[in-house]
Amino acid sequence: MNDSSAHPCKRHPSAPAGWSCQDCQASLCQDCVCVKRAQSAEYLTCALCGGVAARLMLHRARIPLARRLRSVWRFPFTSTGLPFVLALSTFLALAWWGAQATFLLLKFLPAMMYLGAFWAAFFAIVRASAAGARDLEAPDFHDLSTHVIAPALRGLAATAVLWLPLLLYWIYRHDLLESLAPVTEDPRFYVDGTADAATAPRNPLGDPVLWLILAAGFAYVPMVLILAASGSGMFRMLNPLYVIGGALRLGKDYGVAVGALGVLLIPYVLSKLLASWVLSLNLFLLSRVVAELLITLVPVMMAHVLGLLLYVRGDVVGYGMASDYLEPALPGAQPRAQPAPLHQPLPRATAEPPPDDTPTIDGVAALATAVAAQDATQALSLYPSLRDPRLSKQVAPEHHLFVGQSAATLGRYALAVQALEAAADVAPDGPIAPRALVLMARLYAERLQEPARADSIYRYVVHRYPNTDASRFAQAHLPPTG
Ligand SMILES: [Zn+2]
Ligand SMILES: [Zn+2]
Repeated sequence: MNDSSAHPCKRHPSAPAGWSCQDCQASLCQDCVCVKRAQSAEYLTCALCGGVAARLMLHRARIPLARRLRSVWRFPFTSTGLPFVLALSTFLALAWWGAQATFLLLKFLPAMMYLGAFWAAFFAIVRASAAGARDLEAPDFHDLSTHVIAPALRGLAATAVLWLPLLLYWIYRHDLLESLAPVTEDPRFYVDGTADAATAPRNPLGDPVLWLILAAGFAYVPMVLILAASGSGMFRMLNPLYVIGGALRLGKDYGVAVGALGVLLIPYVLSKLLASWVLSLNLFLLSRVVAELLITLVPVMMAHVLGLLLYVRGDVVGYGMASDYLEPALPGAQPRAQPAPLHQPLPRATAEPPPDDTPTIDGVAALATAVAAQDATQALSLYPSLRDPRLSKQVAPEHHLFVGQSAATLGRYALAVQALEAAADVAPDGPIAPRALVLMARLYAERLQEPARADSIYRYVVHRYPNTDASRFAQAHLPPTG
């Protein structure tokens, strides 16, 4: 897409642009945007033309999913990820223990708790990652115990695509029921779920059809899980047209995510093996907790993969608002160009200080003398030499105001605006500031044909200097608002 690549600054081609000018369309870097005040807030201007600058927003997809996925393995090991996984695996261990310890017909409850806790956590991670969260909130199992059935059913339904065809095929092809018969006929199975006579079904690993079903399901299930996590109804989750359509719209990135899940299968199998070894140590609940912890780590990463896919490309499947998927081109960067109150190229920030202060004081004092004598011509001719911000700050606000008024009278509007802005800048809390701003607004409205800018200054005056003559004047000159 067009706006997903970074632009360089127009004036500094080696600097990335974080703003663009709405007037001259230039891409602007930090050094080419300044902050100006007006209205009740600050606004940004283009240092090239003085126009209004806006933050450049780029689509999240400009950072490719593949690159974002590189740090997925770290997700469960963060300062919030680890407590999350630990709490989850403790809960799962307890639920498992509950399922082991109860009579077969009661196993349903803890088994459901186990499934529900797992899937609720899984979907919560998908959603948090899709929202761009880097931290995980600890799972609330108090809440979970009441809302356990729905996620369990969603998880079961979503993954049914994976295990149901396999199960059916296995039953059909490998006579699963027959091979389970010795188990189901053992009375002990109905008491505590164990049986001595369990004989493994024929080794199915050599059957290519089985692998084909598995691979197709593996490519299909992530989209169903995304739908399940994002709160789509069961109808959509189970509708293959909807699922395949979503996967196609996500396109290449869907493939990337499925590939990442495939890679994660390797550590998953390894963690399962490690977990069964830990279980064989038989440290009762501790073994169980550690085993669950090991088994949970990779699914947490997998949920994060799906969440990141939604985070980057969710807009194409209608997840969230399109505007959510835009982010600042330079996140956190602030404009650092000096505000240009004088509407002229500024002296370099690194310019050397004047060799001695005498001319400064002289200039300021000379201006004061000219103002006292009401000598507009002399004041206006002295003023440009005091343009340096440090000198300008030593000029009294009423002297700035005098220059501004004189320049306005003489039709030198640019100079007038500079001086009036300086008058407000030097002592923003003094009595001169609101008067200078109102005069500046009038210049914009009546002489410079910029009513919008005038309005924004009027609004700023109303907000910043309430209960003054200036604010009453400004209020009267603002278009009525609702
Ligand atoms: Zn511009
Ligand atoms: Zn620049």
